Amino acid sequence: MSPSKAPANKMLRLRVTVAAEIAIRSGHPWVFAESVREQNRVGRLGELAAIYDRKDRFLSVGMFDPDSPLRVRVLHTGDPVRIEAAWWQARLREAIVRRAGLFDEQTTGYRWVNGESDGWPGLVLDRYDTTLVLKLYTAAWLPRLKEVVELVGSMAAGPYPTQVVSTPDPQLTAEFPPPDPGMRLVLRLSRNMEESARTRFNLSDGQWLIGGRQDSRLTFLENGLRFEADVVRGQKTGFFLDQRENRRTVESLARDRDVLNAFSYTGAFSVYAVRGGARSVTDLDISPHGLAGSQRNFSLNRHIPSIASCRHEMIHADAFEWIEQSPKRGFDLVILDPPSLARRESERFRAIQAYRKLTSAGIRRLRRGGILAAASCSAHVSAEEFFTAVRRVAKESLREFTELQTTTHGADHPATFPEACYLKCIYLKFG
Ligand code: SAH
Repeated sequence: MSPSKAPANKMLRLRVTVAAEIAIRSGHPWVFAESVREQNRVGRLGELAAIYDRKDRFLSVGMFDPDSPLRVRVLHTGDPVRIEAAWWQARLREAIVRRAGLFDEQTTGYRWVNGESDGWPGLVLDRYDTTLVLKLYTAAWLPRLKEVVELVGSMAAGPYPTQVVSTPDPQLTAEFPPPDPGMRLVLRLSRNMEESARTRFNLSDGQWLIGGRQDSRLTFLENGLRFEADVVRGQKTGFFLDQRENRRTVESLARDRDVLNAFSYTGAFSVYAVRGGARSVTDLDISPHGLAGSQRNFSLNRHIPSIASCRHEMIHADAFEWIEQSPKRGFDLVILDPPSLARRESERFRAIQAYRKLTSAGIRRLRRGGILAAASCSAHVSAEEFFTAVRRVAKESLREFTELQTTTHGADHPATFPEACYLKCIYLKFG
């Protein structure tokens, strides 16, 4: 496909393969470079590209990236629209209103915008109390970052969705109020775009876009528990907000149990388990930063009597090895929450093997009546594949077990297409 000559001020127009047309019509938000059949001119990073179908009817509009195999990220499919300030504003409000009524004032950390699944391809916006974290996964946003920051800044004045009722907000069409003076916004960049952000836009990961330059570590509430997030240096946007519902489930299962929290990061599952009445918790992680964060998260919740009195141990080790090899120790609840084990499709098979091995070792750690909570965040391993692998290993253990439940994404992390469905967790209780 070679672009024809057309003046640069003409809108970028593309035609795509039949398969891509069908995918777009069914709501898929990605168009890959090899699916582009025709292009009226060379496209610039982040500009809007209109996609027309075989009969020359408007199909879709998205953001163009000439350097990425993921050539267009779809913003809208259907009737033609004008993508202008009011359109972006309405779209942001939609995402925020979607969260209305999900959380009360006991939870001040959650996702406001979840990328493609909220109509903001490759863009995540997390709220931690009055600090917002904007995480970009595509350089296509960089040319319009100023616009995005202004919009987020004006919207973030509140009212926050905790205070908005779940029926459509009459303010939806109203203007946004001026920014809250205490509000801060930090930029986080996925590794693959750091270089182009620095060289072409003078932007860097962890840069403050609005407000405060210090205190990259802040605290926020999740179900009444206080946690720290390092929004500048921490993994993801500073905290694994996506595991909130699973932490709640673990809390409900933890009473009188000795809990192993493998891949514990900053110990969030452990804090919940202790509030739920766990006898002891053991954090296991390879990262000393994670373990130090866990210590601080326990301190932040010392006012809760069970947390002040609980036995909390931390083990700095490779969890795959420790679970397999260290001197035998039994637990009544084992949480396995490893990092993504398949970052690309070619790693899928190996990842499933690794999950099997880990699950098997986890089950061997369980005493009679013990519970396994096994999670996977590998997008390339589907929920069914993962659940099937865990169930099979459980059967091979020759122990009796019952399946308590399986879970996927929380409501603030909607996933509207297969590639967005990465998180899954299964709970098994063994005899
Ligand atoms: N359960 C956590 C999130 C886990 S993220 C929460 O709810 O917040 C994955 C964690 O696995 C990270 O903390 C990372 O440091 C850790 N990790 C990665 N490889 C590891 C290994 N080989 N052994 C132990 N921990 C590992």
